[in-house]
Amino acid sequence: MKRIEFDEATLKAISNTTIFGVYVYQKDGRFVFVNDAFCRLVGYQKEELLSGQVKLLDLIKDEYKERAKSIIERRVAGEFFSREFSEITYLTKDRQTKLVLNFGYTVIYDSKPSGFVITVDITKQKTYEILYKALAKVNELSTNITQEDEILKQTVRVLNEDVGFDLVCLGYVDEKTELFKEKYIAGKQTYIDIFRNIKISVNPDIPEGRGSIGRSYREKRIVTINNIYSDKGMSAWRSVQKRFGVYSVCSIPLFKNGDIAYILILYSKIPNIFSGEFMHLINSLSKTLNSTLEKLETQKWKTILEEAVNLGFEFILIAEEDLKIVYANDNATQTLGYTKHQLLNKRLNEIVYQENDRDIGEVIEKQDYSGNCLVFKLKTDEGNIKKALFHLSKVKTDRTYIIAAGKDITENTELQRLIENALRRDSITNLLNRYAFTEAIERYIERAQYQDRLGAVVVLKPINFSLINEVVGFQKGNLILKEIGERIKKHLRRYDIIAKLESSKFAILLKDMKREEDILVISMDLIRQLSKPYDIDGQRFNLSFNVGISIYPIDSKDPIGLLDKAEIALIDARLKGENSIGFYKEELKSETERKLKINQEFPEALKNKEFVLYFQPYFSIATGAIEGAEVLIRWIKNGTVISPLEFIPIFEQTRNIVKLENYIIDEVVELLSTNSIDKPLSVNISATSLMDEAFTEKLIGLQPQYKKLINIEITERLFLDKPGRASSILHKLRNEGYRVYIDDFGTGYSSLSYISNLPIDCIKIDISFVRQMMENPKTKAIVKTIVYLAQQLNLTTIAEGVESKEQLETLKEMGCQIAQGFLFSKPLPKEEFLNLLEKYQ
Ligand code: C2E
Ligand code: CA
Ligand code: CA
Repeated sequence: MKRIEFDEATLKAISNTTIFGVYVYQKDGRFVFVNDAFCRLVGYQKEELLSGQVKLLDLIKDEYKERAKSIIERRVAGEFFSREFSEITYLTKDRQTKLVLNFGYTVIYDSKPSGFVITVDITKQKTYEILYKALAKVNELSTNITQEDEILKQTVRVLNEDVGFDLVCLGYVDEKTELFKEKYIAGKQTYIDIFRNIKISVNPDIPEGRGSIGRSYREKRIVTINNIYSDKGMSAWRSVQKRFGVYSVCSIPLFKNGDIAYILILYSKIPNIFSGEFMHLINSLSKTLNSTLEKLETQKWKTILEEAVNLGFEFILIAEEDLKIVYANDNATQTLGYTKHQLLNKRLNEIVYQENDRDIGEVIEKQDYSGNCLVFKLKTDEGNIKKALFHLSKVKTDRTYIIAAGKDITENTELQRLIENALRRDSITNLLNRYAFTEAIERYIERAQYQDRLGAVVVLKPINFSLINEVVGFQKGNLILKEIGERIKKHLRRYDIIAKLESSKFAILLKDMKREEDILVISMDLIRQLSKPYDIDGQRFNLSFNVGISIYPIDSKDPIGLLDKAEIALIDARLKGENSIGFYKEELKSETERKLKINQEFPEALKNKEFVLYFQPYFSIATGAIEGAEVLIRWIKNGTVISPLEFIPIFEQTRNIVKLENYIIDEVVELLSTNSIDKPLSVNISATSLMDEAFTEKLIGLQPQYKKLINIEITERLFLDKPGRASSILHKLRNEGYRVYIDDFGTGYSSLSYISNLPIDCIKIDISFVRQMMENPKTKAIVKTIVYLAQQLNLTTIAEGVESKEQLETLKEMGCQIAQGFLFSKPLPKEEFLNLLEKYQ
């Protein structure tokens, strides 16, 4: 080997690079020259290395020390040789390890044989390598695992364990709450605990929504943050992340059918890790995962088809939601005798009928196939009718498809009989289904028409059952349905027929009734039995029901007609409220339609500002001064004024009431902010709105000067339905500065003693008492007691509907403080009300 001689200047020239670390050592591995790049690599100051405090062996990891020692000795003894190490581990000042490519030579420096070493930091390359490997693994997972969940789970694991990201989490965004929900997570337990305590949102309006996840969700792209501490969007989590010790974050959106299905987040303690070359790798990772998800989606589709064929279904038709056929396999064309082209131009309901001539579209819409098989008739090209067993399912990929897998069973009568029998029952309760129920009605009618007996079709449905399903899940929901079925069975006669129709609807055929009253008595008793609590898996549920009834032969003489009419009566009962029973009447059809129409017209009417606020002032009985006014709503429709009595109860059956009362609050605030009104306005608030969190939050959020001027009028019924909840809400509102008035006091269930514990300020004595009190001494005594009791409890009393001087006198004597009624003023439109206020001032 040639002897190389270096002087300081040449060395400097060679080592003047930021990429290579260069150093020269002499006896005992003492450094005599180091460049900046090497200092950076090992984390020491140049002086520390050159002073002799730190020697080369201090920087070499134990396992290489022996070998390094002998090389050092040989070089300083003057042996000339070169040596390359592809991977050597150096130790930095803070005891981190660095992987280094090492080229060593013996040179003459300062006239002495010395070691001359060029180093290349390959720590990063090494990470790339790991990442490449991880990528390969993920790729491998993608080809070998067929389940999406498994791939995602393994990916999270690989990225944490093999690649070394400190925390890896895959989750999705809950669209309702806009919060990020974790699905799989990997990392040290302490990190996981910290992570789980952070609220992450994608809502840009709140600080928790401005981080990398929020951004990648909204912008549908990979978002990297290379220094959490200097990124504005991460401010919401800075303190948590400090505990955590991470620097870099990367959020990778994963797509399904063009929508973001998941977000994968990588956290690293290394600053600036997501940059340069590394990002290419992250990008490929994202591509691999995305194409895998896509592949699985199509695979699922294929699997469904294969499964259908494996199950013995011969032909498959796929239709879009409007029933237009978009796919038919070869068997389908053969069985049906149409060409593919002909089939693809038809709708599913043109060739497939259910027995009883029910339209397949209706079956799909009502979802009463519930994953079961049905027997359908097929119309073939030659006009023949064939019988086929069908399995219907809905699949949502880029859009919704209906998959009908079928098997021709025209020839197999035994199978037909078996299947048809199995198909007569509801799969959850094992009661008859709609189809079998109509058959049963039909058989009954055949007999009953000669016997002059009544039959009743009773349809009943628990209220808000879908909510229960949502909260406790379908499994528990199904247990409740089963129990309902059991209770009905237990409380009816053996020969009555019980069925379960779609979703949570039940139907009963009461045979051989003598009088209509008996039907009512039985139904009421049934509601009583069904309203008792349901104890399911240690949880207690209270249900209320609605019942609709139609009577044979009065309402109809055919099964479908009877069932339809009972269902119309049910809608009517629903609009009437909990535990109510509706009988079918001819008027009902139009009445029910009218009610449905009113609710349908609501959104448009609200937009057109057809709802107008009227104001009825109330007065101090002692001084005659205006004490405040009640806000009463009117619907001005095509110039005619509709009374709230006609629409409020109907809106109360839907969420429309909340929307309307929201609007009323907005209007009241608007009025207060544009006029100088110093008397409070009482707003009638329905129970539905009061129980609505967003609604009460809105009230709580109003400015204090408005809270001071708004009274909340509620009816006492509220406390009977949800006493605890109602009390706590009203407490909160009173603490916020509102006053609470009890409306229509005395009408329902009032027990005078219970009001002492309620968070209220004022009692409004119902109009009916004020009316009757002049004729009926008992009523007068009641009113007197109410006023007296209210006084004792420090509550104000307002008498409603005061129309005469005599009434007013009587109320005055009793000590009632405030009166409202036509004697003083009718409800007034805004302008008139404002004028009146001015006059009184
Ligand atoms: P309410 O809260 O008991 O309102 C008093 C009703 O009695 C008003 O009828 C008012 O016009 C009427 N009234 C007042 N003084 C007299 C009188 O001296 N004689 C007679 N015969 N009637 C009098 P209105 O405006 O038709 O409201 C009827 C009901 O509609 C209200 O009864 C209330 O329950 C409901 N309502 C009105 N506006 C709203 C609202 O914004 N939200 C809710 N939830 N309900 C409302
Ligand atoms: Ca009222
Ligand atoms: Ca009232």
